Amino acid sequence: MKPFLSISAFVFIFLSAWPLPVHADELQTRFAAVEYDNRDALKDFNYALYVGRLKNRIKTGDTIEDEVAGKMDFIVNRVMRILEMYLHDLNFKIVIRGSKSGVQADFKRLYNRDVKYIAFYSPSENTVFFSAKNAKLTVVAHEIGHVVAEHYFDISPPPRIHEVMAQYAEKHITD
Ligand SMILES: [Zn+2]
Repeated sequence: MKPFLSISAFVFIFLSAWPLPVHADELQTRFAAVEYDNRDALKDFNYALYVGRLKNRIKTGDTIEDEVAGKMDFIVNRVMRILEMYLHDLNFKIVIRGSKSGVQADFKRLYNRDVKYIAFYSPSENTVFFSAKNAKLTVVAHEIGHVVAEHYFDISPPPRIHEVMAQYAEKHITD
């Protein structure tokens, strides 16, 4: 009897740990699941992502999480308008690293190459990687341009054309 009891105790502990709420370092926007290293990284990201006069057109709440979600969805919608590529069911991931070296380690892990990037989009992972302190509006719009272009076409555009579209989104985000 004793072994059975200890097994069921283990199962109970395991199951009771299961239905925890969403992990503290994740948030969901309309279009993106955002994962961040820690709350400081999210704060740095929100601070770097200064939107100036666009601010009064963005729906935000009381928390940093709400503010980041509001900004991201606003930027995604705006990039779709800039590129005239509308995707109602767009879904992708964002990873916010506390530092540039975190982003560069992600690139190395995925592509086995050393780069100095502060942000990049991986189509195979369907994920944009950002360094929190370098997440300027133009940088974010550029990467979202890549996301939208990648999802809009059945066949992925050639890299140079991809880049032209991302640069176009970057250039016009503050119009
Ligand atoms: Zn690019």
